[in-house]
Amino acid sequence: MTHRIVVVGADAAGMSAAHQALRAARRAGRDVSVVAFEATSHTSYSACGLPYWAAGHVDSQDALVARTPEQHRAAGIDLRMGTRVTAVDLDARTVTAEGPDGVEELGYDDLVIATGAAPVVPEWARGQDGTPLPGTGPVSTLDDGCRWVDRLATGADVVVAGGGYIGLEMVEAALARGHRCTLLTRGRFMHTLDPEMAQRIVDAMRAAGVDVREGAEVVGLDVEAGRVTGARTADGRHVSGDLVVLALGLSPRTELVSGQLALGRHRGLLPDARGRVDAARGVWAAGDCCEVHHRLLDEPRFLPLGTHANKLGRALGDNLGDPDSRLTFDGALGTAITRFVGGDQYLEIAMTGLTEEVAVEAGLDVLAATLEGTTASGYMPEAEPVAIKVVAERGTRRLLGVQIVGGHGAGKRIDAAAATLWFGGTVDDLAWMDLAYAPPFATAWEVLSVAARRVAERR
Ligand SMILES: Cc1cc2nc3c(=O)[nH]c(=O)nc-3n(C[C@H](O)[C@H](O)[C@H](O)COP(=O)(O)OP(=O)(O)OC[C@H]3O[C@@H](n4cnc5c(N)ncnc54)[C@H](O)[C@@H]3O)c2cc1C
Repeated sequence: MTHRIVVVGADAAGMSAAHQALRAARRAGRDVSVVAFEATSHTSYSACGLPYWAAGHVDSQDALVARTPEQHRAAGIDLRMGTRVTAVDLDARTVTAEGPDGVEELGYDDLVIATGAAPVVPEWARGQDGTPLPGTGPVSTLDDGCRWVDRLATGADVVVAGGGYIGLEMVEAALARGHRCTLLTRGRFMHTLDPEMAQRIVDAMRAAGVDVREGAEVVGLDVEAGRVTGARTADGRHVSGDLVVLALGLSPRTELVSGQLALGRHRGLLPDARGRVDAARGVWAAGDCCEVHHRLLDEPRFLPLGTHANKLGRALGDNLGDPDSRLTFDGALGTAITRFVGGDQYLEIAMTGLTEEVAVEAGLDVLAATLEGTTASGYMPEAEPVAIKVVAERGTRRLLGVQIVGGHGAGKRIDAAAATLWFGGTVDDLAWMDLAYAPPFATAWEVLSVAARRVAERR
């Protein structure tokens, strides 16, 4: 009999899993069918590209779509668009779905939960119907992206609420579309970096004319005649703006199964390296609805990134389709990259592993140093300033983390650091490994190696 897999959520994690399950089943000679449910009218698009679309760097919505529903169906997936799974009974192995054809109950052999994460939209940002007030909203879906493309064509002043990477990318979008911009953040800006590294980005934003306010928690919106006129902060100030971007974080969408499965500290599902959540009941999960094993902290962390969604989705699909699969997703390091462009400012920002702050909190005895250098030989026109912070453990000399803030070509240097961390390397490994050099790309002593050497020379 055909083995039926039901996938809930048809974006990065869900569709990676669905396609790989079919490929692996073919390889293993198994008879498998996949039914995938997607609540919205979009599937397999790059949410990562939304801020760049809003900025005007991407021409059209279509450019962000990796695969259309028809392409998924042509590959053999029974994809039900505009159909929301409203209930799951893990013991009976059934889902209830509501879509254009009404309500349906469907049985399955294996269930893949790939429902993603929901952006935080506080009550104060919602109108009476529960949706965001005109002029405000998150940046999460293709429809949100479309709204921001339109809003940025009309609004004058933009307030960005939230000091993470999506907030930063939306500041870039607002500036690119010619708007004045204020960034409000509850704590300090970009806490995935140590404070002095994050300060470099704050300085660049201010140099580009952005009004950056840290310690400014948004607690409400001011609205006149149904339109947003600004944001209110906890200290009672009014910050004026016609548009307010909500970049306030995400929470894993696990409410469908929260009473039936264990959740982690961040309310995410806790799949193993093969994507299994509950092997006895045939439950699997991947993507932003999950917490990810952090290899350095050796505990689950909420790291909602497309790179993890795609990888665990694929590993999950391979194991689901072929019981002899050896594919595993062996966790994450917190590697990430973004950038800021505004006025004459250009910064690439990247990190991997632990910051000094987090390492100390984790009780580690830490050595750290920051090096300022250039991305190319100083005599080359390509050379731009870069700051690299390296964190290692005293005694073992184990590399713990690297942060980079600098000009063109700075950011992807993080990959050498991530590779060193992945293989459990020391700060000496990073200082002495064979990295590429020619004047347009690096200094003879690559700046990342020198930063590591600074720490290596400490005891
Ligand atoms: C603005 C922005 C920029 C980003 N930039 C980057 C980046 O540069 N690098 C990076 O690695 N990551 C980035 N990300 C994160 C990345 O997009 C996500 O990690 C990735 O999309 C997660 O994939 P997913 O499949 O787990 O979840 P999602 O993409 O959220 O997909 C989940 C799907 O499930 C559907 N769904 C939910 N509940 C149900 C239900 N009950 N029934 C049916 N369907 C349901 C949803 O409609 C959705 O389509 C960015 C995200 C955003 C929003």
